[in-house]
Amino acid sequence: MNRFVALLAVALAAGVHYAPAQSADGKLRIIAFGAHPDDCELKASGVAALWAAQGHKVKFVSLTNGDIGHFEEAGAPLALRRKAEVETCARGLGIATEVMDIHDGELMPTLENRKMVARLIREWQADIVLFHRPYDYHADHRNVGVLVQDAAVLVAAAFFTPDTPPTKKNPVFLYYSDNFQKPYPFEPTLVVGIDEAAEKKWECIRAMPSQFADKNSWQGRTLPNVPEDAGQRQAYILEVLKKRNVDVADKYRERLVQLYGADKGRKFRYAEAFELCQYGSQPTLEELKKLFPTFR
Ligand SMILES: [Zn+2]
Repeated sequence: MNRFVALLAVALAAGVHYAPAQSADGKLRIIAFGAHPDDCELKASGVAALWAAQGHKVKFVSLTNGDIGHFEEAGAPLALRRKAEVETCARGLGIATEVMDIHDGELMPTLENRKMVARLIREWQADIVLFHRPYDYHADHRNVGVLVQDAAVLVAAAFFTPDTPPTKKNPVFLYYSDNFQKPYPFEPTLVVGIDEAAEKKWECIRAMPSQFADKNSWQGRTLPNVPEDAGQRQAYILEVLKKRNVDVADKYRERLVQLYGADKGRKFRYAEAFELCQYGSQPTLEELKKLFPTFR
């Protein structure tokens, strides 16, 4: 088949099958992008575990290999260690995971990387895409935001990266929560109570000692008052991270009550929050709630 015929076949296939993007078995397909091998896990492993428990297909992608985020190790050995850690975490959550081989601290919003992100979304045939906002302290996080936003319309274009099939319709794109205020603060569209999946999230964090337990891990060195004892240190860092999920629930308590009703909404201890991106599909709040497991 020559290139023209192949492209035509892709275009016709896209036209014939234009329909709700959910796969034939009714299961959703979700892809989450993070800059480093811990970002998706910190921001979305609770909701990922809830989706996976219902048979939906979730994939985490780290766009860099995390090869400098440590004070004692670096390069290939650290990148391999971190890949193994997120793989352990993914097995526990019941999801897929992939780490791209780009150096930590060096992710750029290039055309090549835009195509890579578009291909990942198309190969996964994602209904939902989660990612960082482009307002963030870390350039890699910001560039994930730019790359996914720039891929948002292109994933449905038959002739962009035509070696992968376009998504059947434009996915829903949602940002992770963060606390940055400028130029725009995060505004939660959905706040998901994750208590039911919380243990799986903590187990995932425990599976990443290069991030959250080593004496010379990033958190081990940068958090205040970290204990010397190895066991105490891991427990202490986990408590700090748990507290962040408590803070999300408390900060957006009013939204939890709106979404779940007063009885349930007031009770959640832990939450993850997401803001609908203005690019991609624009479902109503009711349509959006149907895409998330806990609102049923
Ligand atoms: Zn990160």
